[in-house]
Amino acid sequence: MSSIAPAKRVAVIGGGILGVSTAVHLLREGASVVLLTEQGLASEATGRSLSWLNSAGERSTPYHQLRLAGVDRYRTLFAGNPGREWLQFGGGLMWNAAGQEAVTEARHAYEKSVGYDSKLLAPAEIAAVTPGIDATAVPENAIFNPGEGWVSLPHLVEFLMEEFHSRGGQLVLNAGKASVKVDGGRAAGVETAAGETYKADAVLVACGAATPAVVAPLGVEIPNGSPVSMLVLTKPVEHEVKAVMNTPRAAVRPNPGSTFALDHDWYEEHITEHADGSFSIPDDVVQELADEASKLIGGNPDLKPASWKIGYKPIPGDGEPVFGELGKVPGCFVAFTHSGATLGLIAGELLAGEILTGDTHPMLATFRPERFS
Ligand SMILES: Cc1cc2nc3c(=O)[nH]c(=O)nc-3n(C[C@H](O)[C@H](O)[C@H](O)COP(=O)(O)OP(=O)(O)OC[C@H]3O[C@@H](n4cnc5c(N)ncnc54)[C@H](O)[C@@H]3O)c2cc1C
Repeated sequence: MSSIAPAKRVAVIGGGILGVSTAVHLLREGASVVLLTEQGLASEATGRSLSWLNSAGERSTPYHQLRLAGVDRYRTLFAGNPGREWLQFGGGLMWNAAGQEAVTEARHAYEKSVGYDSKLLAPAEIAAVTPGIDATAVPENAIFNPGEGWVSLPHLVEFLMEEFHSRGGQLVLNAGKASVKVDGGRAAGVETAAGETYKADAVLVACGAATPAVVAPLGVEIPNGSPVSMLVLTKPVEHEVKAVMNTPRAAVRPNPGSTFALDHDWYEEHITEHADGSFSIPDDVVQELADEASKLIGGNPDLKPASWKIGYKPIPGDGEPVFGELGKVPGCFVAFTHSGATLGLIAGELLAGEILTGDTHPMLATFRPERFS
């Protein structure tokens, strides 16, 4: 008789960054993994994310600490190969509208109080810390956070999936709306929309904004605060920008191929949801966002939108992450969070540990799904 316990079989539902990252961490620990997703990989929020890696501003201490650990894991990945075009640490630059300088000062003071690297700068001081910015767009002050970065999540998913396949993970694309199978009160596997079943010792639901809907049939309620949002990718343009910019009319980050990724929220009222669940926005509103972004960039290049994607941005009802096992359904875990880019690597690592060992990680203690019941 062998004394070696058989490898745990884990089914992960959701091919976004949280599902993919957890799947790879599970494989690294020796689990057998099947990853099922409704359509393709990165087909939802992960495929249209600004992906600014940060813990800027004010939030609960456990959330701040988790985000710092999240940035730390990206730094480790970055250090292994700083030449990747899809993961860079060029800092973050933010400012508020004219007249809100005191708000910016208060944010800077808070960031300093928690040891977050934060520089309060006059417009004329910006060029010395980060290139390619049109400082005439900045009112009286701005904050530069040198430790921040950005990632292109579709590239990260592709990178992680190479490891997924090399470690023998099983991928099921076009699974439709899969559901958790329960047997004797425990999660026992996953059923695809077509009725195919995959048995497992544990199941992770990492379905982004659809997570509350996937666990609802299990009698578990997780409030959903996911808004509709858009990410625009521009055509290539020559520029020197390194920092992620968060400004009153546009959020901008560099993107591979000398393009930019653009995001904000002022145009949400122009988004229409159609009966088939798809979204649209007038082309001139998209161009207006590109024009706003152009004002922030040195030389004010003529930015042209190349593509844009609209859909839900996963945010739990109380704004805090939801990570861990469901008290009502042992063996079923959830991963549902805002800032899933920043948390993508750390959440996958900690959840894989919980799923395989049964030991809860203290950093996830305040993020349990039970807080809603
Ligand atoms: C515009 C925008 C800007 C953002 N900016 C930032 C930022 O600056 N910094 C940051 O840290 N984060 C940011 N985020 C958040 C971050 O991108 C998301 O939190 C993260 O991508 C979510 O990943 P996920 O794996 O949880 O979900 P998703 O990427 O949404 O993936 C969920 C997957 O599950 C699949 N699925 C759903 N239901 C089922 C089902 N029943 N069966 C099978 N499959 C199913 C979906 O098809 C999808 O592939 C932003 C998001 C958006 C949209």
